[in-house]
Amino acid sequence: MEPGNYAKEDCRWCSGSAMDYQTGNPCGVCHGQGVVLVVMPPKACAACEGSGRTSPVEEIACTVCLGSGWAERFSVQSIG
Ligand SMILES: [Zn+2]
Ligand SMILES: [Zn+2]
Repeated sequence: MEPGNYAKEDCRWCSGSAMDYQTGNPCGVCHGQGVVLVVMPPKACAACEGSGRTSPVEEIACTVCLGSGWAERFSVQSIG
């Protein structure tokens, strides 16, 4: 990966709060960061339309973006 080709965007699963409001634990999608690294230019996940959820009524993480809401992203942990 080339540095600078990604941006930090709010994690859609926790809305940037870094907390999973269902469990009260740190958000597992963004690893408690509140943000995810997204490949520039940021593109919302088409499967969940950027919501990170499979449907508006079911709190189930989208299997395409894994709940982040973004189509292409890097692991937060990969940059330390
Ligand atoms: Zn999160
Ligand atoms: Zn998705």
